[in-house]
Amino acid sequence: MATKRDYYEVLGIQKGASDDEIKRAFRRKAKECHPDLHPDDPEAEARFKELNEANEVLSDPDKRARYDQFGFNDPMAGGNPFGGGNPFAGGNPFGGMGFEGDLGDILGQMFGGMGGMGARARRSNAPRRGADVMAELRLTFEEACLGCRKTVSFQRRKKCDACSGSGAKPGTQPVTCPTCKGAGQIRQNTGWTTIVQGCPTCGGSGKTIQDKCTSCAGRGMVLTRKTLDVDIPAGIDEDRELKIGGEGEPGTNGGPSGSLCIRFRVQNHPIFTRRRNNLYMELPVKFTQAAMGAEIDIVTLNGVKKVSIPEGTQPNTDFTLRGEGVVDLDTGRKGDLVYRVVVEIPRKLSDKQRDLLQQFDAISTDKDYRTRKSFLDKLKAMFTGG
Ligand SMILES: [Zn+2]
Ligand SMILES: [Zn+2]
Repeated sequence: MATKRDYYEVLGIQKGASDDEIKRAFRRKAKECHPDLHPDDPEAEARFKELNEANEVLSDPDKRARYDQFGFNDPMAGGNPFGGGNPFAGGNPFGGMGFEGDLGDILGQMFGGMGGMGARARRSNAPRRGADVMAELRLTFEEACLGCRKTVSFQRRKKCDACSGSGAKPGTQPVTCPTCKGAGQIRQNTGWTTIVQGCPTCGGSGKTIQDKCTSCAGRGMVLTRKTLDVDIPAGIDEDRELKIGGEGEPGTNGGPSGSLCIRFRVQNHPIFTRRRNNLYMELPVKFTQAAMGAEIDIVTLNGVKKVSIPEGTQPNTDFTLRGEGVVDLDTGRKGDLVYRVVVEIPRKLSDKQRDLLQQFDAISTDKDYRTRKSFLDKLKAMFTGG
């Protein structure tokens, strides 16, 4: 390299480019000139170094600001701000330059399965939390509203007793993986870069099993059915999930167990409908009760209660019993019970009933039927133009 090229030119971007544009440009160019992809091109290595240097400066806000101001002549850095000549003197351009992440991505995209620098390679011997397990419980309407204690039965994996979870036949031990010598990773030195990947033989655990445990087929885990008594809180519903920590599958390498997540199916109730914490019901009453007013027994979640409807109650009037609904799972507040009066009229009259109603009708006036009166008035107005 005779004269240094401008960093923006190297990346092929404008001076005001955003961080994102810089990142994208670097990735694109890195693919174009990565030396591993051009082993016969001696220029590739030089271009790649140049590219890395440009990226290192432009992707760091401080260094970029200084570069924008001073170019290659930053006084703060004694003439050469960017690494005293050749930052790649060690032969490994990535050493200590903080590129591993980005480059790992790039290599991952380029080489597929081979990708991933050391920092990215999955280490499966780290502690991991166990998986959650699901269970479903059927509840009656009252059980969901009032809470209950239920036995839930579910499947989960647990450590195999026969091999204590090692997966090796009892009496034998897993042996150090011959492929990775126990490291769980394989390093491939291509002369230029070191590529690290998870060991395909042992899956990263560093151990392999020669004689598999027959109880668990070498998996170290067996499926078991577990039953558990669970307190279901009052107010649960189908859109809520109950999580019980520690009852899921065991963690690995000392990680915590997962959770048991219980979902619910709640039966319909013959009388109540539930919307959130309120209960709704229809209350059929005799037309005489609606007319004269009455004390009526209704059901609530807490048993039978007497309510009164006043004289002259109209059909479909809603009444509310405060606090007779369902307790709110989060706030503990109780909802209401709303009952709607449904007025029932006899479908067939005896002679005596008809006689009495005719007598009743004879002494009734327009004032007794306000809604009807106003309807008739409107009708009259339509035809008289008033
Ligand atoms: Zn086993
Ligand atoms: Zn291995």
